[in-house]
Amino acid sequence: MSLIEHVVVVGAGHAGGRVVQNLRELGFAGKVTLIGDEKHAPYERPALSKELLLDSGDENITLGPEEFWEQSDLYERIIARVERVHSGAKRLTLDNGQDLEFDTLVLATGGQARELAVLGAELPRVHTLRTIDDSLAIKAALSKSRHMVVIGAGVIGMEVAASARVRGVQVTVLEHGDRILARCLPEPASKWLHALHEDKGVAIHTGCSVQVIEQNDAGTELSISAVDKLGETHTFTADLALMAVGIDCQLDYLDGSGVEVNNGVVVDAFCRSPSMPWVYAVGDVAHTPNELVGFALRLETWRNAENQARAVAEFICNERSEPYVEVPWMWTDQYDHNIQVIGIPNDQNQIVVRGDFHEGSGSLIWLRDEVVVGGVLLNNARDRRPLEELVKRGLRVDLAFLQDAGCQLRTLL
Ligand code: FAD
Repeated sequence: MSLIEHVVVVGAGHAGGRVVQNLRELGFAGKVTLIGDEKHAPYERPALSKELLLDSGDENITLGPEEFWEQSDLYERIIARVERVHSGAKRLTLDNGQDLEFDTLVLATGGQARELAVLGAELPRVHTLRTIDDSLAIKAALSKSRHMVVIGAGVIGMEVAASARVRGVQVTVLEHGDRILARCLPEPASKWLHALHEDKGVAIHTGCSVQVIEQNDAGTELSISAVDKLGETHTFTADLALMAVGIDCQLDYLDGSGVEVNNGVVVDAFCRSPSMPWVYAVGDVAHTPNELVGFALRLETWRNAENQARAVAEFICNERSEPYVEVPWMWTDQYDHNIQVIGIPNDQNQIVVRGDFHEGSGSLIWLRDEVVVGGVLLNNARDRRPLEELVKRGLRVDLAFLQDAGCQLRTLL
């Protein structure tokens, strides 16, 4: 039995919404208040850079049925921004001046699209992508666009590049680093994806730092200047640009609250703030220890939002005693290809190629001291479960076996 009477969830996105759904499913008897600064009911974001940008894309991405989000005696949804948390006093203040008291606080404020500090970043034809409104604005712009420049070759940048190409828009990608998707793919997988995009007609410039964005007098064309590694300036023209250079967690609302912050909200293995156990964090904002990875990190993934929200609801309802440990997993769909990544890539890992990876179907498995620590599955979803299980169990494996694509991963378990 939980003695908690009022749970307040800040951030009505994927993880925050799932906390509310799970609390109800677990029979939480107290009141739940969900506060978010978006006007939409909680929704899932992956389709924003994929299906929703295509002409045909009109799927419903709300979490559960719309009726679920109607108010009741035990559930209230407030559309507002939290401006201050007075944690010791278990009270918070909204931007509409309202004060709210709580027993338990769940921080689920995710991340906000980062803006490059360059002149012109604020121009109307320069977009960022985090919310459904951002996605709809990009979709509308794409329908009138001939040439798009994507700044930043991470997952979201390259997904939008793929969606734009499918719509027949010319695409140029400008990336500061040496290769695309460097944060989540090892080099051979990056190379494969780079070649695929070039094959589809995307022009990719790596080692290229955007300096300034200008617009013509009519406001119809952008001119984007970037410097390459040799110090030469190149200018790219476009009628639409996307700035996809990662996210920042804006946590000013926690200033002075006493909640520990370090690249996100610091939590323990039970997703609680170490010094204030009545404060939890979930989803992209939660800087969580992970014994499988070997360090604490923020996971910016759909599944972490799902699973951590479930775990936090269970902790609140006293339905769980084991710590939360997530095997990092994410996917990306680009053109007709599905890429899934398990674990966190690391240049020191040994990589084993399985199947016809370089032809577009197979895996790269990463090992550290002969222990499988992760991998990339390229159009090979069936190996996800056995690979995750191998990572969880930390088993030593026989290299010769692993290199033989005829041998099924599941037989190693
Ligand atoms: P969010 O869903 O961002 O929710 C946070 C909410 O908090 C937002 O509504 C925000 O407005 C609100 N908020 C912030 N501050 C305040 C405040 N002070 N007061 C009130 N409200 C506040 N993951 C994958 O694994 N695979 C994919 O293919 C994939 N594709 C993606 C595509 C896109 C375009 C994006 C943006 C993300 C994608 N992700 C993907 C990541 C996944 O969607 C996120 O990990 C997930 O949304 C995180 O959920 P969250 O609840 O932590 O954050």
